[in-house]
Amino acid sequence: GCGICPKRCPFGAITIINLPTNLESQITHRYSANSFKLHRLPMPRPGNVLGLVGTNGIGKSTALKILSGKLKPNLGRFDNPPDWEDVIKHFRGSELQNYFTKLLEDDLKSIVKPQYVDQIPKAIRGPDRSVEFLLKSRHTLGNLDSVLDTLELRHILDRDVSHLSGGELQRFAIGTTCVSKADVYMFDEPSSYLDVKQRLSAARMIRSLLRPDDYVIVVEHDLSVLDYLSDYVCVLYGQPAVYGVVTLPYSVREGINIFLDGHIPTENLRFRDESLTFRIAEGTEELIVEKSRAFRYPKMEKTLGNFHLSIDSGDFSDSEIIVMMGENGTGKTTFCRMLAGALKPDGNQKVPEMKISMKPQTITPKFEGTVRMLFFKKIKAAFLSPQFQTDVVKPLKLDDFIDQEVKNLSGGELQRVAIVLALGIPADIYVIDEPSAYLDSEQRIVASRVIKRFIMHAKKTAFIVEHDFIMATYLADRVIVFDGQPGIDAHANKPESLLTGCNTFLKNLDVTFRRDPTNYRPRINKANSQLDQEQKLSGNYVSLI
Ligand code: ADP
Ligand code: ADP
Ligand code: MG
Ligand code: MG
Repeated sequence: GCGICPKRCPFGAITIINLPTNLESQITHRYSANSFKLHRLPMPRPGNVLGLVGTNGIGKSTALKILSGKLKPNLGRFDNPPDWEDVIKHFRGSELQNYFTKLLEDDLKSIVKPQYVDQIPKAIRGPDRSVEFLLKSRHTLGNLDSVLDTLELRHILDRDVSHLSGGELQRFAIGTTCVSKADVYMFDEPSSYLDVKQRLSAARMIRSLLRPDDYVIVVEHDLSVLDYLSDYVCVLYGQPAVYGVVTLPYSVREGINIFLDGHIPTENLRFRDESLTFRIAEGTEELIVEKSRAFRYPKMEKTLGNFHLSIDSGDFSDSEIIVMMGENGTGKTTFCRMLAGALKPDGNQKVPEMKISMKPQTITPKFEGTVRMLFFKKIKAAFLSPQFQTDVVKPLKLDDFIDQEVKNLSGGELQRVAIVLALGIPADIYVIDEPSAYLDSEQRIVASRVIKRFIMHAKKTAFIVEHDFIMATYLADRVIVFDGQPGIDAHANKPESLLTGCNTFLKNLDVTFRRDPTNYRPRINKANSQLDQEQKLSGNYVSLI
C-alpha cells in the first residue's frame, strides 16, 4: 500500500483513495460473474468530437461497443439481462436516454473503425478485395477524393487488403469509415502504425466529418493527437481488467490534465498516487551539460531495392539520447540496423565498432517458455540486479505477467518485455525502434521515463525512433530529422539540438506546438490561431519551456 489509501490496492500503483459511494448502482455492463465491470458511460454530444482517454483494459472499447449499439448493456445483470426499455429507463434524465432512444428507433446509424486493424483482411470476403473496390462500395458521403488525398491512399488503390502494411491498413480502415454516411462515427485508436504527419492528416479527416447533428467518438493514446482531435474528453479510471469508471465530460485541456494528474478535483478523487509531468526529473539537469562528442559515424549511403537513403555524418557523446523523427518509409529502421551492424552501408564506409543493444520495431516472439525464463536466458545479470529491478522491471509492471508464456502476451506486454530485454544487455549504445507502439498513454510515459533514467544513470547513448511527439520531445537531447521521398529517396540530417531539429521537422508539417503550463506537455496550436501565426512568424514551431 501507499500509505494514503484506506484499502490495500493489489495493483500497487493504482490507488483509489475514495471511490464514489454510489458506484454499485451505476454499473453499465458486466460481461459475466467476476468479470470486468464498466461503470457509467461517456456522453456523446451532437456536433462534437468526444475523446476517451484511459489505460489499457479499462473499458474504452467496451464503451464504444455499447454506444454503437453492438453490445446491449446489461446493467450488471449478466444472468438476467434487462430489456432495452429498462436500459433506457436507467439512463433517464441524461443525454444518453435520448441517444439510446434514437439508436433503438434506427434513427442513428453508427460505424466503427475497429482497434485491431490487423484483423480486417480476415473479415473481408468476396471476390474483389482491392482497396479501390472496398472504398467505392462503401462510399456514400461524396468525399472520396478528399479521403484518398488526405489519407494518402491513391498509390495503393489496386492492392489487395491482405497485402497492406500496418500503416496502410490503418489509413484504409479510417478511409472506409470516413466515406460512409452515418450519424455516429467511432474511431478506436486511429493513430497506431501512423507517423506524425499521417496522424495529423487522420485527425483532420476525422474532424471533417463533424456536422451539427452527428456524433464523433475517438479513443486515442497519443495525447497530442487526442488533444488536437477532441472538443471534450471523458477519462476512464479504475483497475484494468477489473473495473472501469467513466468521468463526466471535461474540456480537452482539463480532461487530459486530470488523466495525467491522477486526480479529479470535482469529485475530490485520486485514482493514481503519482501525477505524470513532462518536466525532466530534478537532479538530472547536471547530467545533460554540454559534453565533448567523442564519437562519430561517417557520411553513408544505403540502397535497398528501389529505396535509397543518404545519411549525413554525425557525432554523439558517450551519454545522450538522440531521437529520430521522420515519415514512415524514410529509412529510420534502416539506419538503426546499420548502427547495429545488421546492415552494411554501400561502399566501404564503416560505422564505429561499439557494443550495441537493439530493440527492433517488430517483435515476433519465438521463445518457448515464460517471460521469467526468457529474462534468465538473455539478461540474467541485469534481471538479478536490484537496481535494474527498481529502475526498469518494476515501473514497467512486468510482475503482472512475468510467469506467463511469452507466446500468449498482448502487444503492449510484449513491447514492455522487448524494452527490458534491450536495456538488460550491457552495451555502449542502445537503439530503440518505436517503443510506444501498442502502449497506452500511461505506459508510454512510464516507458519514456524508464528509458531516460536508465540512459542517464548508466551514462550510455541511445538512438530512439518515436512518433508520439510528447514522448519524442521528452526523451530527446538531440534529434535526427529524416526527410525526402518516403520509400524512394530519403535523407537523414546530422543530429541537431532538440529546438532546431523540431523546428525543421514541424515546419515541414506546418504545425506549431505550445506547452501546457501545468504539466509541460506539448499541445498542438489550432491552425491559424494567434499563437500559431506568431510562432510561425518567429520560427519557433515548438516552445520548449
Ligand atoms: P480497453 O479498450 O480500455 O483496453 P476493453 O473495453 O477492451 O478495454 O476491455 C475491458 C476489460 O473487459 C478487459 O479486461 C477485457 O479483457 C474485458 N473484456 C472485453 N471484452 C470481453 C468479453 N467479450 N468477455 C469478457 N471480458 C471482456
Ligand atoms: P522507416 O523505419 O523510416 O519507416 P524503413 O527503414 O523501414 O523506413 O524503410 C525505408 C524504405 O526501404 C521502405 O520503403 C521499405 O519498404 C524499404 N525497404 C526496407 N527494407 C528493404 C529491403 N530489404 N528491400 C527493399 N526495400 C526495402
Ligand atoms: Mg480498446
Ligand atoms: Mg521503421
